[in-house]
Amino acid sequence: MTTHGIGVSPGTAVGPTVVVSTVRITPPGDTTEDPALAEASVSAALEAVAQDMDVRAQRAPEAAKAVLEATATMARDPGLLQAAAMQIAEGHGPVDALHHAVEQYCGLLASLGGYMAERQEDLRDVFQRAGARLMGLPAPGVPTLTTPSVLVALDLAPADTATLDPAMVLGIVTEGGGVTSHTAILAAQLGIPAVVQAPGVMVAAPASVGLDGSTGEVVFNPSDEVAAALIERNERRVALQSRAQGPGRTRDGQAVQILANIGTVDDALRAAAADVEGSGLFRSEFLFLDRAEAPSVDEQVATYTKVFEAFGSRKVVVRTLDAGADKPLAFADLGEEENPALGVRGLRLQRVRTDLLDDQLIALARAREATGADVWVMAPMVATAEEAGWFTHRCRDAGLPMAGTMVEVPAAAIRSANVLAVCDFASIGTNDLSQYLFAADRMQGRLAPLLDGWQPALWDLIVATVRGAGGKPVGICGEVAGDPLLALVAVGAGITSLSMAVGKVGSVKAALAMHDAATCLAMLEAVLSASSPEAAKAAVLELVDDEIRSLLG
Ligand code: PEP
Ligand code: MG
Repeated sequence: MTTHGIGVSPGTAVGPTVVVSTVRITPPGDTTEDPALAEASVSAALEAVAQDMDVRAQRAPEAAKAVLEATATMARDPGLLQAAAMQIAEGHGPVDALHHAVEQYCGLLASLGGYMAERQEDLRDVFQRAGARLMGLPAPGVPTLTTPSVLVALDLAPADTATLDPAMVLGIVTEGGGVTSHTAILAAQLGIPAVVQAPGVMVAAPASVGLDGSTGEVVFNPSDEVAAALIERNERRVALQSRAQGPGRTRDGQAVQILANIGTVDDALRAAAADVEGSGLFRSEFLFLDRAEAPSVDEQVATYTKVFEAFGSRKVVVRTLDAGADKPLAFADLGEEENPALGVRGLRLQRVRTDLLDDQLIALARAREATGADVWVMAPMVATAEEAGWFTHRCRDAGLPMAGTMVEVPAAAIRSANVLAVCDFASIGTNDLSQYLFAADRMQGRLAPLLDGWQPALWDLIVATVRGAGGKPVGICGEVAGDPLLALVAVGAGITSLSMAVGKVGSVKAALAMHDAATCLAMLEAVLSASSPEAAKAAVLELVDDEIRSLLG
């Protein structure tokens, strides 16, 4: 059987599946007659969880390491075991006792507020894992893999995805999730082929699957023949990509900068080793997601210097801290908000915490001076020209020559002439731009059709942004940039740079190299004339080169 989801990270994978458990442990109301035995079993379960976290931390990228180490420390906290022992002494069984102990601790953490309050989720995760062990159930989240496998899940938490080992995870198929969720973004960053929104995959729970992360095709229990065809299609794709090397350009030679999205020093090293012209989006907040305290200027200088050195003379576009909503930074927490995605986030937060912004700009300027790198800086979540102008001044004061605006709020796209008049460049964040244009939460998998990059209304805003820019550079750094067909439409709209997960560079460059600028313009016109995303994609497919179409599945 074959099902179709949305491909979010290119490449094919065929292999045995491991279903990621979604079972939530609820305390069974157990009792005990043997307190010593119950306490020993709680102690063993907590230690096993801690050891599992240690192993994961060793393999995890820098950003996730500290979270996992902190979780291991929580599991080993003697106070937690003591609290459970007191519950056991009152007659509770091991699972119930641990649950009560964890909830007592959570109450304490909640009363401390801020960063400590956020640790409640980690502590409850300790209970889920230890509780599953005590009840003989599979642990929640991604199990430790012993053979290379394809993960099948309802959805994956970003923390789970960040700690995946690309050598063991052949691919990912989720029934939920969205194209612009940070889980999809992280999978692409790690180069793991992935499909989201694959209907029925959890119920079917096939023993093996074949998946194509470019087309979204998922085949349950594929025969050898089908598996071979999937792999052969990917080999043709790779061969096609190897013909398009060097700077991005259309068949008739129109230059389109192809850049990589990065979030950490490791990403920068990986991306800089690839055939890209720089980085068009350095998500700087990814460096500090698990920090309780703001990083010092010196620490930031050291990190940015490593990133700039990796890219040498190639440009690096740094997005200043985009804190808030799905990317909370504990040290920049302004307290609870009813609607964090519509709240004081991105540049709005930087204007409240100017100390954080100024420290970052000073650090960027120092790292730029030390390396002589081509550093561009841009602000997230800009809505008005006044905000864009304020940010530009701040950058100029810090000695940074290129200040830009991320176009993620429809107002900024519509009034791009005003916004671009007071900054040097724009980069369209299509992930958030779609979210705010369609009033559709990007974390809500069920709304994925509204967040489809083929929505004609999204292209109305992209065209408006370029039109108002008065010739200043306008790039795209959202997920749209990494889709080979949408990249062609973007070129038709006058976009001058495309920034994407490094794994997507090859197919985008190949698509560009096989189409001329006039075809790209015709594709844009087809999208603008369409009344639905399906009609837009179908019309563009009519204009696509046959060889590329045969690879689309
Ligand atoms: C975007 O919103 O399109 C974007 C590139 O930023 P992020 O995905 O990090 O919010
Ligand atoms: Mg964004």
